[in-house]
Amino acid sequence: MNTVLGPVPAEELGIVAVHEHIGYGMPGSELDATWWKTPEERYAETVPKLRRFHERGGGTFVDVTGICNGRDVDYYRSLSAKTGVHIVACTGFVGGDTALPFFERAGVDYLARQFVHEITVGIGGTGARAGVIKVGVSRGGRMTELDKRIYRAAARAAVTTGVPILTHLAIDPEPAVAIFAEEGLPLHRVLFGHADDGVNAPNTPDVWIAEQGGRIGFDTFGYETELEDPPFWARPRKERLDHFLGFVGKGFLDQALVSADANCSPLGWPGVKGHTVNYIFDDLIPDLRAAGLDEATLTRLLHDNPAGFLTIQD
Ligand SMILES: [Zn+2]
Repeated sequence: MNTVLGPVPAEELGIVAVHEHIGYGMPGSELDATWWKTPEERYAETVPKLRRFHERGGGTFVDVTGICNGRDVDYYRSLSAKTGVHIVACTGFVGGDTALPFFERAGVDYLARQFVHEITVGIGGTGARAGVIKVGVSRGGRMTELDKRIYRAAARAAVTTGVPILTHLAIDPEPAVAIFAEEGLPLHRVLFGHADDGVNAPNTPDVWIAEQGGRIGFDTFGYETELEDPPFWARPRKERLDHFLGFVGKGFLDQALVSADANCSPLGWPGVKGHTVNYIFDDLIPDLRAAGLDEATLTRLLHDNPAGFLTIQD
């Protein structure tokens, strides 16, 4: 699979954090005077988190910050070289509502060509190839016309290149499932994300998606109401854990992926205090062990499942 420093075989991935952000911000946040940080400040904030991730057995960090949301591949390459963590960058968009007008006006063919170029040639002039395609549902709870155009372009790029798709939100999944079927993309190549956050979990038909063959992301672990200053999408810790264990208990372990969706250094917003990618080691893994999951199951969850997902299909 593609990392920002080149291809890496699946057996070298280590533990994978499949939905994370080096730094995510809304388009235009670089113009904000309050929260914007210098490159030195971002670096100083990010490197210790990645070093700690690596020390604990974290091998691969998948950055799903889309085009227009602060993706910075030269910076990721430098972080990867310094910390030893494999970093996977994405092509695509977090949602139609974060695509700038240039892309908002683009057709399916243009968008598909853009994604394929970033996967097969590279992102900008970096030579680094994207390893995953990000798509998402805009605010409002329903897929917009632009969301659907981006999903269709992503499906074509996934079929052409063998790279998988990862979604922001799994609400309103019927149009997405229909588009993937029309474009001939098997649903095991799609990870439907954010099935577990406090706002969207009640409206996400995770079992229905899994029955169609899709993968499900329990990828906001750690955004808890127990935090000192929880975000609006927080959820009680036990409620999320029980939701996850219930899903796995229905026989969907191989379709489940977990992550923390944390920002190492958020762009243009203060971020969520006390939450990092290392929640996976500090809290999630101990909670899963306490719930009775054995080491082989944890390996499937944190290595085998994401490795299978990220491996480029012929
Ligand atoms: Zn995210």
